[in-house]
Amino acid sequence: MLAELERLIELQRLDSEIAELEAAAAAIPGLIHAIEAQQVRAKATLDAATAETDRMMKLRRQKERELEEVTDQLKKRQGRLFEIKTNQEYSAVLKEIEGLKQKVSALEEEILVLLDQIEEAVKARAEEEQRARSSEAEALRDTQQKDAELRQLRSRLAELQGARKGRSKNVESSLLQQYLRLIKSRAGLAVAPARDGSCEGCHVALTPQLYNEVRRNEEILTCERCGRILYWKG
Ligand SMILES: [Zn+2]
Repeated sequence: MLAELERLIELQRLDSEIAELEAAAAAIPGLIHAIEAQQVRAKATLDAATAETDRMMKLRRQKERELEEVTDQLKKRQGRLFEIKTNQEYSAVLKEIEGLKQKVSALEEEILVLLDQIEEAVKARAEEEQRARSSEAEALRDTQQKDAELRQLRSRLAELQGARKGRSKNVESSLLQQYLRLIKSRAGLAVAPARDGSCEGCHVALTPQLYNEVRRNEEILTCERCGRILYWKG
């Protein structure tokens, strides 16, 4: 094979790998950001569950205080019954006692319902906390892994760029310019193999004469359609 063609193929191999690794490295900060955003959402869900449990417990204490007060009032009214002189006053106090008893049973019922709700909320919160804890550990592992991946990619990229620099020095200057123009204008692929009579870069059939010449790998030949430098893979 023509030495110049071989160098261009090697340069293309390096540039393709560099482009691939650069794309992978560029995607990593976004992935880390997505993991962190997920953690923020998980924390907000847990905070909401905590606030809801606190709200219900506060309500329960409030209802229990109300119940104490009403029970107190009820006892006082019941005590007064024995001191009452008139029938009119007696039936008025009885009526009050009836009202207070209804209040007591309504409050007791409310507290029972609240106790059930609190039990549910505490359970739900504990589950949420468990979930948050394991997802936090998972997120930490994932971000550390992504950081390590990024460091590896960067060091591999530095190696490849060093190798690329060395290789491009060996390519004749005007050919290198042609190559670089193609890299820019042809989506990073300047050197393409020919196969089954076609250019693999643009998938357009080559003339039989050009295809036969490309198969010898003895000259720098370009695709008539896309201008890429062609070679035969064998
Ligand atoms: Zn082509």
